[in-house]
Amino acid sequence: MNSMAQVLARVPLFTLYRRIGRPRMLPLNLTLSPSPKCNSRCLTCNIWMKREDELTLDEWDRILASLGRAPYWFTISGGEPLMYPHIVELAQLAYKHCRPGVINIPTNSILSSIPERVERIARSCPDSHLIVNLSLDGVGEKHDLIRGIPGNFDKFERRLEQLLSLRNSLRNLTVGIHSVISRFNVHDVDELIGYADRSGVDQFITEIAEPRIELDTVGLHITPSAADYGEAVERVIAYAKGKRFRGMARFTEALRIEYYKLVRRILEEKDQVIDCYAGWISAQIYSDGTVWPCCVRADNLGNLRDYGYDFKRIWFGEEIAKVRRSIAAKECHCTLANASYTNLLQNVPALARASANLLRMPANPASSGIENNTSAGTAATSRKNLRAAPETSGIRADSNDAFPWLNGFQHRTEKREHYAEEALAAYKLGIKARGAVAGVTIQTGPDCCEAARRLAPGRTYRPEQAPHLPLPDCPQGRRCGCVYRPVMNYQEAEERSAGVPGVAMAKAKP
Ligand code: SF4
Repeated sequence: MNSMAQVLARVPLFTLYRRIGRPRMLPLNLTLSPSPKCNSRCLTCNIWMKREDELTLDEWDRILASLGRAPYWFTISGGEPLMYPHIVELAQLAYKHCRPGVINIPTNSILSSIPERVERIARSCPDSHLIVNLSLDGVGEKHDLIRGIPGNFDKFERRLEQLLSLRNSLRNLTVGIHSVISRFNVHDVDELIGYADRSGVDQFITEIAEPRIELDTVGLHITPSAADYGEAVERVIAYAKGKRFRGMARFTEALRIEYYKLVRRILEEKDQVIDCYAGWISAQIYSDGTVWPCCVRADNLGNLRDYGYDFKRIWFGEEIAKVRRSIAAKECHCTLANASYTNLLQNVPALARASANLLRMPANPASSGIENNTSAGTAATSRKNLRAAPETSGIRADSNDAFPWLNGFQHRTEKREHYAEEALAAYKLGIKARGAVAGVTIQTGPDCCEAARRLAPGRTYRPEQAPHLPLPDCPQGRRCGCVYRPVMNYQEAEERSAGVPGVAMAKAKP
């Protein structure tokens, strides 16, 4: 297994690799997305609508073999990763070929099979540290509202109890709570901290909701304003600084404090702030075999099926060079936690501050994760106390322009074959499944054609009635810059109450 010291020794080499292209290095931080399927219907994510020609286990086997012992940190993401039927085998393949230091898996807590699968992964990968973070976006009904699944919060509490009990018998398991701070819950952070503090988890971490091409959330106003986020994150930082964490959680929380400060600056300055190493030190393999530098841009660097499942052929190939130039030129910025972690490791002042955070943290407790926290047993018997928090606030309609570059980036991306059919089928599926999607609008590109200019701005279409993109006479063809954007149910409600006539008036009958 890669030790943390070995990993830190490799970190400066990535600085050279990014600057002069040598020595050639494989990524340390890799996200595997075996399937986009998800049984949540979050207001902040549309990935559950996607369907892909997913890689088989045999294909994953060949890909992971091509990586050797390079990756230290694997995240297995989704969709809901624990819904993927072969997640145990996938983790075992990663372990067999790469011996990572960390396997990190987020979960929505819905399936009853989660504890059994987590236990199998932890037991069969004994030299890797398994981190399982349970998503919590609100306490009680607020969680169900944001995640779109009635009863999700009750299931979260049941899984939490089961996983904490499991943690007590598995030395390589860390159990955490992970909250996505969006404009729907940015004023509820105290309540989330209070809940996490009493829950007995090893760590409480947060991430900010942001538009991502992977999640099909470009153009959705889900990111809180810089001011609201700044206020919320002050509290999270104060909490992280004052608590006692054990093991791996001490390291992640120390780094996370720097991440929170970084996000605040990125939102204010609308810039990468520190150099981004996505495409050098971190990457993602999507479920159909496409390699991305990150899930926010999701540039197609090549599909592993076309490269004999050899990751190196894409990583050291031609296509990635121009994407790296774009990232190095800071043509993008974002708050993605996964990439930010490794970016912070590359930044000497940030790393020094993270080390200082680590040294200043209260001493390691003997067993529990958070100072004054309860044991798993106590967490199980005091659910009412965990919930003892003020009522959550309502949804607010703050404006947001944190990532305008991503809209432009989306408009510049060439449409793949059957773009319209695939996109509209996904939105149709979303509506059928009674998700958060109400319909689609067409967002015209900067150089759109005359026909596109004549479309009613802001009109909401049922997917089966939306015009096909590119429009029949568009001179740009697949380079047409117009895109479909989902209209969410919450947007419709807000716009109706604000007296915006377009949505209700233009919406076609099913
Ligand atoms: S700044 Fe964000 S969007 Fe740009 S490459 Fe890095 S992770 Fe991706």
